[in-house]
Amino acid sequence: GVFVMGSINQDFVLRVERRPGPGETVTDAELSLHPGGKGANQAAAAALLGAEVTFLGRVGDDGLGEPLVRNLEEKGADASLVERVPGRSTGAAFITVTPDGENAITVAPGANRALSPRDVEAARERIAACRVLVAQMEIPRETVLRGARVASEVDTRVLLNLAPPFRVSRELLSLLDPLVVNEHEAAFLLEEPVEGVEGALAAAPKLRRLGARSAVITLGAAGAVVADGESVAHFPAPEVEVVDTTGAGDAFVGALATRLAAGEALKEAVSYAVRAGAAAVTSEGAQGALPTPEVVERL
Ligand code: ADP
Repeated sequence: GVFVMGSINQDFVLRVERRPGPGETVTDAELSLHPGGKGANQAAAAALLGAEVTFLGRVGDDGLGEPLVRNLEEKGADASLVERVPGRSTGAAFITVTPDGENAITVAPGANRALSPRDVEAARERIAACRVLVAQMEIPRETVLRGARVASEVDTRVLLNLAPPFRVSRELLSLLDPLVVNEHEAAFLLEEPVEGVEGALAAAPKLRRLGARSAVITLGAAGAVVADGESVAHFPAPEVEVVDTTGAGDAFVGALATRLAAGEALKEAVSYAVRAGAAAVTSEGAQGALPTPEVVERL
């Protein structure tokens, strides 16, 4: 199975003609609500692709949390480890989208901040029962580090999606198999630009030299590059009609974890994940667009 620890958010998407300036009111916005948070998105993606998923996260006591938990269960994930944090709001993201497609996002992490190393410790047996642990950086860093340590102690493979990017210790990097980043996150870690397939083919082995056991760099429409042992390889994404790229990275990570948990080698799993990511851009929303195994196979 796949153990996902991470954020669970309510996304409020506001379509507006233009954003209000300070002190101004805009009254023609269209609101839509979507379940979100990288952790929950990745858990949903893995569950829909057939993985047995356990999700660890925290919601607030404000009424937004319950439907989000129910949504994860409907997608097929086990959300029984999710608890309510008294006095905190459920994580929320406020996204304004203008007609040119530009996003402006404000995140209120709320209860996601309360997921602690102790909570991870309490889930040790559940982590041990899974083949892969997946984390991202929308929960406290010390919690991510504890998750990686516990997983390596119980022989569970660690996949860290370093999004949003943070400085991480060599110790944490040394536990990752793989580290998964996009071009921007790779550039942040290496402190140099990483552009296109050629750039990623050079950068992925450098991420291994920083300490990661293996490294994957996603490249949007250009697919992904993976560095593993002595070799580095590029997997192009299939050409698809792009509707909304939100959640492509999360679908990629969920798919990658699913295949690794099924015992596939990293390169084969990446070749599947680039197709899952491509499928996710062909419809709207982060979780609304998650592919099924049939859709991925067709690509
Ligand atoms: P993020 O959303 O985290 O920045 P990417 O944009 O690199 O991540 O996308 C993740 C994966 O989704 C890519 O590796 C690719 O497989 C797929 N993908 C993203 N954008 C496209 C696209 N325009 N066409 C086809 N596949 C895409």
